[in-house]
Amino acid sequence: MQEYVKGKPIFTSINNINNQYPYLTEDLETDVIIVGGGVTGSICSYYMSKNNIKSVVIEKGRIAHGSTSVTTSLLQYELDENASELRETIESKDIVRAYELGLCALKEIEKFVDEYGNKCDYIKRDTLLYTAKNLEKNGIKEEYKFRKENGFNVEYIDESDNLYNFDLKAGLLSKEGGAEIDPYKFTNHLLEVSMKKGALVYENTEAKKIEYLNKGVTVHTSYGYKIRAKKVIVATGYNTSLFTNENFGTKYNTFNIATKPVKEIIGWKDRVLIRDNSDPYNYLRTTKDNRLIIGGEDVEFKEIENEDIACAKYSILEQRLKSMFKYIDDIEVEYKYCGCFETTKDNLGYIGPDKKHENLWYCLGYGANGILFAILGGIMLSKLYYNEKDQDMRLFQINRFDN
Ligand SMILES: Cc1cc2nc3c(=O)[nH]c(=O)nc-3n(C[C@H](O)[C@H](O)[C@H](O)COP(=O)(O)OP(=O)(O)OC[C@H]3O[C@@H](n4cnc5c(N)ncnc54)[C@H](O)[C@@H]3O)c2cc1C
Repeated sequence: MQEYVKGKPIFTSINNINNQYPYLTEDLETDVIIVGGGVTGSICSYYMSKNNIKSVVIEKGRIAHGSTSVTTSLLQYELDENASELRETIESKDIVRAYELGLCALKEIEKFVDEYGNKCDYIKRDTLLYTAKNLEKNGIKEEYKFRKENGFNVEYIDESDNLYNFDLKAGLLSKEGGAEIDPYKFTNHLLEVSMKKGALVYENTEAKKIEYLNKGVTVHTSYGYKIRAKKVIVATGYNTSLFTNENFGTKYNTFNIATKPVKEIIGWKDRVLIRDNSDPYNYLRTTKDNRLIIGGEDVEFKEIENEDIACAKYSILEQRLKSMFKYIDDIEVEYKYCGCFETTKDNLGYIGPDKKHENLWYCLGYGANGILFAILGGIMLSKLYYNEKDQDMRLFQINRFDN
């Protein structure tokens, strides 16, 4: 089977978290089974336990070693594409609502950190969407106007007030529009909190078969143990083949490099989260210990095994980073990695019940805001457990592209 992550990811390498989770050695009964022990599964487990719903998380490999180990963890309320590009697929009012929901999800993470402590290097950041091309200036200006008119806290920047060291023709700065975290630490912290409230977490425990019953489901795991529950949540990231034949989106392979800590970060005002407007695009952030991460240069997913492409892409990213930040003279790449990334026509993920099986629910953070969508999924699915349908779930429902 094709792997979904390649290379040496930064977050599982720099962290020395000694958490080990057991594997399942008995049959269990619970309210909700969460399949997938990445950041999405752990977010779901957190919201279930917060709402007094018993949950069991099962992870076939190690906790947070899938896509979660490579995510850049830029948390931004905006979507992958600008509103003008999305309007054919999704109405303007829904784009605005998706942005607002992104801001709500950011607040939720802040609340978590305030309540349980900042163990995941959470830092609130402004975000910058910019272009270095004259041709794309209008696109940025249009997006700025759209957001401004709809009440978002944004500023327009052009060449004359460029406070960054890199070439910028137009930029859209979203004040407090984002945050950064360490996804490996965040996942483990969410699980720690959930387990204190009664959630059970197993790694090296694969869901092998799902049996749909009149009132619930049974998940059959590796080594023959079974878990019975009222609902099962699919939080398996980009691999959903055990549950459905549905083709949810388009898969890409996206590349990241991370540097060693640099002495001083020069020319990167306020360490904003950066995304450029090009195609293929690049995205950048810093880390608490002064590393720089740049990603992007996406190619078709089938190329994930192609090492020549990967080497070429890592080299492009390194050159780009060095040319953007000429005054940081000790840039030295330490980690190179890539992974699957799936996007949808409207840039939104999937939250909600399967079309056929009412007890099979999805929480799939597809699109560039995967982690924020997972937060929304955790909230919405914990309400749904009590038969309360969140009105905004319509934006993420599985059948939204069916005619
Ligand atoms: C290079 C890169 C950069 C990215 N940057 C960002 C970013 O900046 N911001 C953002 O929000 N998103 C980003 N993403 C997307 C990001 O990866 C996702 O948002 C997030 O990490 C997905 O987490 P997850 O828990 O859904 O998936 P995963 O971490 O992959 O977790 C799913 C887990 O399910 C397990 N599993 C699968 N099948 C089974 C089974 N049958 N039984 C048991 N377990 C199973 C897998 O082993 C895996 O651990 C990026 C992705 C990549 C590749």
